[in-house]
Amino acid sequence: MTKIIVVGGGASGLVAAISAKRSGAEVIVLERNDTLAKKILITGNGKCNYWNEDQNLNHYHSSSEELLKDIITLENQKKVLNFFDELGIIPKIKNGYYYPYSNQAVAIKAALINEIENLKIEVLNNMFVEKIEKENDKFLVFTKNKTFSSDSVIIATGSKAAPKTGSDGNGYLLAKKFGHKIVPILPSLTQIYGDSFYYKEWNGIRLEAKVSLYEDDKLIKEETGEIHLTDYGVSGICIFNLSGLAAKGLAKKRKEIVLINFVPDLCFNNCTDFVKWLDKRNRNLNNRTIAKLFDGFINYKLVYLFLKLVQINPNLLWQDISDEKKLLLADIIINHKLNVLKVNDFLKAQVCSGGVNLSEINPKTMESFKVKNLYFTGEILDVDGDCGGYNLSFAWISGILAGEDIGDNNA
Ligand SMILES: Cc1cc2nc3c(=O)[nH]c(=O)nc-3n(C[C@H](O)[C@H](O)[C@H](O)COP(=O)(O)OP(=O)(O)OC[C@H]3O[C@@H](n4cnc5c(N)ncnc54)[C@H](O)[C@@H]3O)c2cc1C
Repeated sequence: MTKIIVVGGGASGLVAAISAKRSGAEVIVLERNDTLAKKILITGNGKCNYWNEDQNLNHYHSSSEELLKDIITLENQKKVLNFFDELGIIPKIKNGYYYPYSNQAVAIKAALINEIENLKIEVLNNMFVEKIEKENDKFLVFTKNKTFSSDSVIIATGSKAAPKTGSDGNGYLLAKKFGHKIVPILPSLTQIYGDSFYYKEWNGIRLEAKVSLYEDDKLIKEETGEIHLTDYGVSGICIFNLSGLAAKGLAKKRKEIVLINFVPDLCFNNCTDFVKWLDKRNRNLNNRTIAKLFDGFINYKLVYLFLKLVQINPNLLWQDISDEKKLLLADIIINHKLNVLKVNDFLKAQVCSGGVNLSEINPKTMESFKVKNLYFTGEILDVDGDCGGYNLSFAWISGILAGEDIGDNNA
């Protein structure tokens, strides 16, 4: 019977172990922590957004993006949904986002561990894999006190994001020893720091906005939805989805700017349109003070901040301010500029961009093209997804592909 060692008992490692065992292999999972799947518990704010109905490839990012179409196939998507169905997970689907019906991440963790136990897969916790070597056809997997031998190895050690969960980037070194190239690792799905002095004044505000990321003055990505204004800049899912690209641009010394439109639903083409609309509103509302003119459609605290920034007295009437000032005010509301200083670090990032170069991996099986019977799954690979369940989606798909392939070889 083919003997497999899975290094890392996180999302992709557990699914790979289950798939391999179901296909008839003997499987051992080596996990450095004293429990499995620590990260799953903190996903989706403790609710685990484990899948998304919209599996359009534009939600996934890699420097070998053309290979993703062979991984995120319809067939593989069905495999994941069947997999969780068989484990008894009932999805609660909100706008295409899948959560376990109980809204508790622990449901996903428990279902995976339950199946690991049902299948009598050997799990060894507190086993940090320090080194892996290949001698003839066998792998030697070294931990502090014990060396294991196997026919195949699946490296599922995750990325460098949220290292307190066990994924601290050590897996990249294991991959490098086998000659794999690592696409530079950068934090993604995280907060963005700006360079303005007034963020303390908007700290704590949550609102709907459109955010547009410009790189060297060229628009590269836009998102609309809730953002959080913080004392260092901006946060929230839309911002997270821009952060990976911003981090890559900053690493290449490019200028990254986020423009925030605080009234996206009002659809102004430009500041002149917005000012005309305010002129009309002012006429309709019988000359309210400027501050009151914004009542009801812009956060109250923000209005005062913006008026202060463009040096307009909030008690003046709209018709009492110059056209130039009106345009400045409109601009700060619909094109609010945030120069990106940095994105938050690996401690706070949900995932990493970069990783083991996908072009060195067979996209149908996750097997290394460089070393036979060596596999990689999950976030250690150079694939990262948007917020919305895409990173776990990739973990499940890659885990199933690797596990099934090893089992098939065994058949
Ligand atoms: C706060 C947060 C929220 C998130 N929310 C979501 C979400 O809602 N939806 C979504 O799709 N994605 C989410 N993600 C991302 C998702 O959790 C990861 O993409 C996914 O867990 C990656 O799976 P993995 O198997 O590659 O790695 P991990 O799940 O990180 O597992 C790697 C495992 O390997 C172990 N390990 C590492 N090195 C060794 C070693 N040398 N020897 C032995 N064991 C080792 C680690 O201890 C760990 O258990 C979130 C991430 C974070 C941090």
